[in-house]
Amino acid sequence: MPIARDDFKPTWRFSPRWLIAAAVTILVGFSLICASVLFSMRRGDEKLAQQTLSNLASSIDAEIARNLELYDMSMRNVAANMTSPELVEVSRQVRQMVLFDYAATARHFGNIQVLDAGGNVTLDSGTLDPQQQNFANAEFFTVHKRDPLFGLYISKPMQHNGAYGIVLSRRIAARDGLFLGVVTGFIHYSYFNEIVARLQLEPSDMISVLRQDGVLIMRAPFNAKLVGRDLSRLPAVQRSLAAFSGTYTSEAASDGVKRVYVWRDSSHPLVVMVGRSTSVIYGQWQKEALQIAGAMGALGLIACVLMLVLAREMKKSAAMEDEMARLAMTDGLTGLANRRRFDIVIEKEWQRAMRAQQPIALLMIDADHFKAFNDRYGHQAGDLVLCGIAWSIARHGKRASDCAARYGGEEFALILPGLTLGDAIDLGERIRREIGGIERDGMTPTTISVGAACLVPSAHNSMMELINKADTALYAAKSLGRNQTYPASARNSLAA
Ligand code: GH3
Ligand code: MG
Ligand code: MG
Repeated sequence: MPIARDDFKPTWRFSPRWLIAAAVTILVGFSLICASVLFSMRRGDEKLAQQTLSNLASSIDAEIARNLELYDMSMRNVAANMTSPELVEVSRQVRQMVLFDYAATARHFGNIQVLDAGGNVTLDSGTLDPQQQNFANAEFFTVHKRDPLFGLYISKPMQHNGAYGIVLSRRIAARDGLFLGVVTGFIHYSYFNEIVARLQLEPSDMISVLRQDGVLIMRAPFNAKLVGRDLSRLPAVQRSLAAFSGTYTSEAASDGVKRVYVWRDSSHPLVVMVGRSTSVIYGQWQKEALQIAGAMGALGLIACVLMLVLAREMKKSAAMEDEMARLAMTDGLTGLANRRRFDIVIEKEWQRAMRAQQPIALLMIDADHFKAFNDRYGHQAGDLVLCGIAWSIARHGKRASDCAARYGGEEFALILPGLTLGDAIDLGERIRREIGGIERDGMTPTTISVGAACLVPSAHNSMMELINKADTALYAAKSLGRNQTYPASARNSLAA
């Protein structure tokens, strides 16, 4: 017979749910920390790549700027000296020496030529007898004829004098501004290839050199479809032409590779842009991130499984603990609360009744002539009768606050918080009648005697007084002939 009340359970216990909640919180916390570390690692790689690319772009830019400036200086020198009146009087050899003294002789830089106002080649730094050529229709000529203020002109990559490269040109003007012709220079495309070849690059790296108007002058890897084309409409190119330096990430239409681009635009008329694929930049990070995420995932999974197992074990052991506690408080034969539990409950209920200033009643119940019953029908039959008595008492004390207990041997107690003496007597009588009416296989029905007591706890009484009163009333019932319910009262002292 189960005990209705469950106040034997501990009031506080670390619940498995809290364990799972704590584990989930820790896991989420670890994941967030991990994600933040991975994120900052990624940022670090990104910064490092930007720095590397920026340095790369700067070194290419500086190289081109230096050579272009030297070459341009030679051309400007030629343009300036061409207007000098002294040059008319000197011999061709001397003029050649004076004009082309500074002329660049670097491997990838071609001859400097002087074109007259009609576009005819009149002088060539490489020979005293230049070939008869006319470039009157070439853009590097017409641009200066049209615009007196045009400085250094840089052509698109083109075939010129049998070589592929870019033509540079400057206007030759008389002191009064009259157009006298053009001085041209030539940079072989191989110059760019050599710059690129000297660098340590990733296979997917991309280097572009753009003219200020967005025309692509050079690209590595070389792309015939793009080199020489005006790319100024591309938003990325527009951005790089608008600012001195910067970075952006985009997918190249030419090969579909996503790259981080960094550009440098120094004072010379070309912009250098370097791009490196994101898979190269973040490749190592991705590998490490995958490993860390995988390890974290696996550890998280193991932790989850362990937590679930632990939570289940905790649940089991809590249930076991409860069961043990219940058993420790339960009478083995009848299933009622045992004497230990009776002591705990009556103390608690007494305190509660004291706080609420409510009555608390107690029935003490004892089987009559039970020794004789045992002697006549045997101990086992006696046990069955005790179980029957217990069942009846528990059935009548069914409120959550009631507590039916086996007080000892064939004696029982029923704690009835909130009941008056009259109510307790009624209940005692009902139990007595029910038990007295149980017949078993021709055995004499067992009767019970009941002692009923009730007190409103105060400073003038005690819990022990209640128990003693009920006990005294029980003995009064016994001495008055048994099989009856007797209330504790003034007469109890007589009965005692
Ligand atoms: P009274 O009416 O005065 O109470 O007489 P009684 O014989 O019931 O009282 P007494 O105290 O003399 O005897 C109690 C008997 O209860 C003795 C014992 O054999 C019996 N008893 C106590 N515990 C158990 C038990 O667990 N099982 C059985 N079968 N009998 C028990
Ligand atoms: Mg008895
Ligand atoms: Mg007894």
